Amino acid sequence: MFQKILIANRGEIALRVLRACKELGIQTVVVHSTADADAMHVRLADESVCIGPPPSRDSYLNIHQIVAACEITGADAVHPGYGFLSENAKFSDILAAHNITFIGPSGDHIRIMGDKIEAKRTAKRLGIPVVPGSEGAVSDEKEAKRIAAEIGYPVIIKASAGGGGRGMKVARNEDELNVALATARSEAGAAFGDDAVYIEKYLEKPRHIELQVFGDGAGHGVHFGERDCSLQRRHQKVWEEALSPALNDEERARIGGICASAVADLGYSGAGTIEFLYEDGQFYFIEMNTRLQVEHPVTEAITGIDLVHEQIRVASGGGLSVRQEDIKFNGHAIECRINAEDPRTFTPSPGTITHFHTPGGLGIRVDSGVYSGYRIPPYYDSLIGKLIVHGRNRVECMMRLRRALDEFVVDGIKTTLPLFRDLVGNPDIANGDYDIHWLEKYLAKTE
Ligand code: ADP
Repeated sequence: MFQKILIANRGEIALRVLRACKELGIQTVVVHSTADADAMHVRLADESVCIGPPPSRDSYLNIHQIVAACEITGADAVHPGYGFLSENAKFSDILAAHNITFIGPSGDHIRIMGDKIEAKRTAKRLGIPVVPGSEGAVSDEKEAKRIAAEIGYPVIIKASAGGGGRGMKVARNEDELNVALATARSEAGAAFGDDAVYIEKYLEKPRHIELQVFGDGAGHGVHFGERDCSLQRRHQKVWEEALSPALNDEERARIGGICASAVADLGYSGAGTIEFLYEDGQFYFIEMNTRLQVEHPVTEAITGIDLVHEQIRVASGGGLSVRQEDIKFNGHAIECRINAEDPRTFTPSPGTITHFHTPGGLGIRVDSGVYSGYRIPPYYDSLIGKLIVHGRNRVECMMRLRRALDEFVVDGIKTTLPLFRDLVGNPDIANGDYDIHWLEKYLAKTE
């Protein structure tokens, strides 16, 4: 087991990882920018190292500084959290060259999944169902037209290097295809420095369903069931549930089995998430994230298994603590992402939190690094906390969520709490009857 883990992240996820390390009796080092000197994870860590000024590129993305912090403190492993360097294959390689363990998969697996065309090709080879479309990058208009005619309109053009929903364009007919292709290509070139694009069937009303998987790096793989993250705004997840209200046990076992064998065959090590669009009983692979996800606590709530403990165990060579048959799903869990944003316009609302009171009681978990008097720096993303509620079934979970949202107090800044108070009372949400476009339509209607 590791002696000392350096946590290369900030905010709620840094605190989340720190808690897991403490439970396992592992010493902790955190790195932070000058803007985060007062953060909760800095206060609670055994050691902390200031690695630079506020902008992420000078601090949380500064590989040299982070490696130097490992050397100075003698950390033998790094947990990258999510975002920042968590899917940076170069970072993983550099750590390896310094004999420091990256708590995550190999650089090669990060590289494959970071390239969407390569990821899709690999998924297909591993027996994962994918969205019908081009085999690789499309070279010109003529080829795009031929493929679109084959799979049928509407189609979506996506950037191979894409992320965060950028570089995607829908075409409903041949006339729209030329423009979509050109815009997707130029957006991709500008955003990612790589203008390779590919083409897929556009699904009209899918749900976003993702499978939590784990590999031990030695040919074993398990799945921890799915999360439904269909409630999104601008391709950003807002509310996540486990399990999905849309799947039955047979579908779950089937897709779970496919994903677990895929990570086993790949020789994958650590936590991963295989994301699908789901429509009319069919799954369509869109991407795999090679890290811990923001929404991992809903999976922890229904399985009772600490996924960060598992990541640390696997990375230290100790293997998984569970076999597939040990993973049972108990009840229902929902996570609300509490952002420091206007609940209607979603413009960021940094500032000082004058009063912070979190709900409690059975089935309530709040993951947050903020406190009364905390000043939210304007440099980073606006997530200030996550409310995770568990109940014996979805109805009980929703009742408890409504009560928890009523108790939650964040004064001094605007947050997305009022949006969740609206959503929890909505009949479609109560019935679990929503797709990936539901939230945008709802927001447009209630403007
Ligand atoms: P990114 O990595 O940029 O987030 P994804 O491939 O994960 O890109 O897609 C993000 C979102 O875009 C999906 O959750 C879905 O809402 C939409 N999307 C992607 N591919 C399709 C498709 N073939 N049909 C319909 N919507 C899609």
